[in-house]
Amino acid sequence: MSKQHVIVIGAGAGGLAAAVELAAAGRAVTVLDTAPTVGGKMHQVRSGEHWIDAGPTVFTMRWVFDDLFANAGAQFANRLPFKAVTTLARHWWTSGASIDLHADPQVTAADIAALAGSEDAEGYLQLCRDSGHIYELLKTSFMAAPQPNPMTLALRIGLTKMGEMLALRPHQTLWRALGDYLKDPRLRQLFGRYATYVGSSPLKAPATLLLITHSEQQGVWVLPGGMTSLARAMQNLAEEHGAQFKLNTKVAAINTRDGRITGVTLDSGESLAADDIIFNGDRSALATGCLGPDVVLATQGTPVEKRGLSAVTWCLRADTAGFPLSYHNVFFDEDYPREFSALFEDKAVAERPTVYVCAQDRLLAGHHEGHERLLVLVNAPATGDLSTWTREQMSEITARTEAVLADCGLKMSLSSATCRMANPQDFSDRFPGSGGSLYGQATHGLFSSFTRPSSRTKISGLYLAGGSVHPGPGVPMATLSGRLAAQALLKKDQAPHWLARVLARFTPKSD
Ligand SMILES: Cc1cc2nc3c(=O)[nH]c(=O)nc-3n(C[C@H](O)[C@H](O)[C@H](O)COP(=O)(O)OP(=O)(O)OC[C@H]3O[C@@H](n4cnc5c(N)ncnc54)[C@H](O)[C@@H]3O)c2cc1C
Repeated sequence: MSKQHVIVIGAGAGGLAAAVELAAAGRAVTVLDTAPTVGGKMHQVRSGEHWIDAGPTVFTMRWVFDDLFANAGAQFANRLPFKAVTTLARHWWTSGASIDLHADPQVTAADIAALAGSEDAEGYLQLCRDSGHIYELLKTSFMAAPQPNPMTLALRIGLTKMGEMLALRPHQTLWRALGDYLKDPRLRQLFGRYATYVGSSPLKAPATLLLITHSEQQGVWVLPGGMTSLARAMQNLAEEHGAQFKLNTKVAAINTRDGRITGVTLDSGESLAADDIIFNGDRSALATGCLGPDVVLATQGTPVEKRGLSAVTWCLRADTAGFPLSYHNVFFDEDYPREFSALFEDKAVAERPTVYVCAQDRLLAGHHEGHERLLVLVNAPATGDLSTWTREQMSEITARTEAVLADCGLKMSLSSATCRMANPQDFSDRFPGSGGSLYGQATHGLFSSFTRPSSRTKISGLYLAGGSVHPGPGVPMATLSGRLAAQALLKKDQAPHWLARVLARFTPKSD
């Protein structure tokens, strides 16, 4: 009997994880991606002789990759060199203040005491304890498990522990909850920024996102080969198990017959048959017809008003002066709420945006004299398909970004001949259906995490993986989503044929 053939559309974190899982389970897997390299948002751009990470740079939740590789008979630690950072991030304010967040919470607490007093230092240590608690409660019940509803989540956590969870006031906004731990507005801003890791506003995101504090406290790693080396390691592992990769290959349509998928049509006109398909693009691509008419109703897209954040990025080599950068650096102006009302209400980049700078030579090559590789990022609204991002607009955003950096004391210019910029329109073009949102739908409100689709769709044989579906965005979460999609597919195959048909009919759909 020939092997069941699975087509994975998209070689982002979710698609790669699904390919590893399915190939290791003995499926014949073909991965198709429009891009010339694997990784999706994990990608690099070239500046002269040098490659610069232009997508994700904060690598956390290593257990996700340890588990993925172990399940496929490999050891993650042997496949990829990585290094834990001791300074998680360096922060500056235009007022002149600065503080480092350290891997050791006691060192951070001492710095917080010096910046804001001992009450906030205590508050921070309590925040670490509570975020660790939330993280452990949600790790296996939510993140690494199929999409629950509030009731199934309560049952998975257990009713006693659910009481502990509720005592942590998850119904509050992240912003409000942080105010209970930290009186200094700068510290509230520093930890509130974690909401942007999932494309959201701290003023609307639920307090459960406190768990990101713990996920960083567990370790932030840097990969010497950049985040694309992670994608390549996942590709290699999938290939060792027989998966085939066809890059520079765009899927124009997913085809069905009698409510079941039959295969795909490429934009070259070629057709490929498949028993099952995992779609790793933004789920809105299906709903907006980017994958043809057969799958428009397969799942719900993200409504425009619920999209998470996009970004404007600059990748360049430049001289910096003023003070030493760390690997991860954040530059804040004072009025954080105003930034989010600009982003989510006015649909504009803030006048005084928060600026993230990843100084990619700082850890691996030590202090860098002269030109160094930098990714600079500010948050932007996901309006890439709604408005044109003109050259004039981009020059203005560049000037505003340089002004915040200068007011914090960092001297550098973003205007170099080799600088590669990207805006929401570019991200919208690269990730069809997303409008440039890098994180699917925003996590706003207590129940938003329950409204992301699960890996199953209304079409038999079609599954979803990636940051726009459960458990959400970020490289580790998208990786978990790929494993969940693969596991849903394999589970269906394990059921007897008649049962599989009944299950497909009665399994709760993604909406
Ligand atoms: C600038 C930036 C900074 C970020 N920072 C971080 C960070 O520090 N830490 C972190 O964890 N996360 C970060 N993220 C988010 C993280 O990168 C994403 O959540 C994650 O990588 C998404 O993975 P995914 O599985 O959804 O696939 P994606 O990366 O979205 O890839 C989807 C793939 O599908 C392909 N595709 C789509 N449609 C088709 C089609 N029709 N035919 C063929 N191929 C198709 C696309 O070409 C793409 O390669 C960042 C993202 C960006 C852009």
